[in-house]
Amino acid sequence: MSCPICARPTDPKYKPFCSRRCADIDLAKWLTGSYAIPVPEEDEDEPPLPPDDDGPAH
Ligand SMILES: [Zn+2]
Repeated sequence: MSCPICARPTDPKYKPFCSRRCADIDLAKWLTGSYAIPVPEEDEDEPPLPPDDDGPAH
């Protein structure tokens, strides 16, 4: 049997993965598959949008 993540030989300790890293990767896949992917909210450089007023346009 080989690791489902990287296809290297499985380590009995981390079955069915080859290492803890691959086990973690698989776990992360599970989590991101069932929950929303966490988005960092710190890098927002965009200026706030002006209010969308429905004034007389034309
Ligand atoms: Zn692996």
